[in-house]
Amino acid sequence: MIAVSGAIVGKSGKVMQILPGRNRLIVEGVNMVKKCLRKSQDHPQGGISEKEASIPISKVMLLCPTCKKGVRTVRVKQNDQMVRKCKRCGNLFEGSVK
Ligand SMILES: [Zn+2]
Repeated sequence: MIAVSGAIVGKSGKVMQILPGRNRLIVEGVNMVKKCLRKSQDHPQGGISEKEASIPISKVMLLCPTCKKGVRTVRVKQNDQMVRKCKRCGNLFEGSVK
């Protein structure tokens, strides 16, 4: 789970996809864009579909389960693995850091 800052402040969601080359990622339910569908075999009436658009990585922060808000993190070494640690409460986030 992450929290988002900036234009889409206050939203949070699961990271669905990371686009490393572009420093952007796609977060579930955040930055939805509407897309008009042409009439086609799948959509005989045409229509509007909603889809997540990517947002810059710099706009997101990790959501700390203890602080219950987006926090800045530091990288620390643990068991020969780099992990993220909450700067406020010291909570360790699972998953290694690239
Ligand atoms: Zn915390």
